[in-house]
Amino acid sequence: MSQETFDVAVVGAGPAGLMAARKAAQTGAEVLLLEKERSLGAKVCGEAVSGSTLADAEIDPSPRFICNRVKGIMVYAPNEEKKVEIYSEELGFSEGFLLEKKLFLQELACQAVQQGAEILVGATVLDVEKNQGLFRLKVKRLGETGEIKCKMLVGCDGVTSLVAKKFFSREGYEVIPCVQYKMVNCRLDDPHVLETYVGHEVAPLGYAWIFPKSESSANVGIGVRGAPAKPYLDKFIAAHPAKFEKARVVEIQAAPVPVGGQIGRVVHGEGVLLCGDAAGQVIPLTGGGIHTSIVAGKIAGEVAGRAAVQGDVDLEEYPRRYAYWSRRIANSLLSLKLIEKLGDSELNQLAEILTGEDIVNLASGFNIEKVGKKLQSHPEFAARLGEALLSG
Ligand SMILES: Cc1cc2nc3c(=O)[nH]c(=O)nc-3n(C[C@H](O)[C@H](O)[C@H](O)COP(=O)(O)OP(=O)(O)OC[C@H]3O[C@@H](n4cnc5c(N)ncnc54)[C@H](O)[C@@H]3O)c2cc1C
Repeated sequence: MSQETFDVAVVGAGPAGLMAARKAAQTGAEVLLLEKERSLGAKVCGEAVSGSTLADAEIDPSPRFICNRVKGIMVYAPNEEKKVEIYSEELGFSEGFLLEKKLFLQELACQAVQQGAEILVGATVLDVEKNQGLFRLKVKRLGETGEIKCKMLVGCDGVTSLVAKKFFSREGYEVIPCVQYKMVNCRLDDPHVLETYVGHEVAPLGYAWIFPKSESSANVGIGVRGAPAKPYLDKFIAAHPAKFEKARVVEIQAAPVPVGGQIGRVVHGEGVLLCGDAAGQVIPLTGGGIHTSIVAGKIAGEVAGRAAVQGDVDLEEYPRRYAYWSRRIANSLLSLKLIEKLGDSELNQLAEILTGEDIVNLASGFNIEKVGKKLQSHPEFAARLGEALLSG
């Protein structure tokens, strides 16, 4: 650490932090990105993203970090007799991708470095205080503790965020435990289709997923609420012998996903911006957080960079420009809260009514009113779902 004072310090080099560092550096600010792990992408992830995620990350799809292309998603109802098919082409979406997330993050890191950002891995931020107009970060790296100073601070340090603890209230912040296996020698129905399974028997208040990484390997995981996740994942795998009888687990990972929606404030007037998982910026019903984090990091990094270099920048510009995403997160949270009140037989019934487009609208929080209107004509769902979605 030759230099000790920076315009902007970004804590955490996940998708949010890497994007924030790049965009802050692009403004001409001197930027330091601190990552506690010794390598990027240590955290478990299903690694599925939409094509528009890469467009927002301003990166062209490349075999350097993409291992599989995704043309659709199957959502299986609890009885698994009914499945709702969501094909991206039919819905007018670009195709999706399965990332090698470590390599994807390295690509984002390369872009940040090319813009002039400094990155330090193996550097844990232990504490942060503000005095005499500067943030002072206590950083431990390779056994040594030092101090870094900066004008602006961007917290992209995930679920256990120190920056959030120091500067923000995370009332309503909620995580669910997830467990994921990397499995090889699977017999997948279609290696270009993601599969998700819902139901109280399969995954109480969550879902199980099979995200193919190749013809025969997949990320197979589960998120549940109020119960340990691993027994449910093992049960799910045992219940699908056609796919998994000859498959083997080559990696076991676990991590929580925030599903409580975005926290109330993501800007602290002293000069702190909070992004990504740290701020609850995850689509609650899907648990997808790469895209939402990338966009948040992109805006927050740019605002923080300009604020440090020019001064006199309204930091509220960040939540204002992120409003479309905040709304989608809120819509998806409302859908989640309503759907989790339904029993398995109601979920089976719902799968008969909803189309792929409806599911995308609900899960990703695009147009929940449209689904609300449709459900108003179904007596069993009119009050509990239809009107509630319309009043959201
Ligand atoms: C099992 C599972 C499956 C998922 N699958 C998908 C999926 O398929 N698609 C999708 O879009 N999303 C998925 N997600 C969600 C997605 O992984 C996250 O939403 C996304 O990574 C959030 O990015 P982030 O940059 O905010 O935080 P993170 O990726 O969590 O990065 C935070 C970084 O901060 C670092 N850090 C923390 N504290 C400190 C500190 N004190 N000092 C320095 N560094 C620190 C951490 O080491 C970490 O690298 C999944 C999550 C889980 C758990």
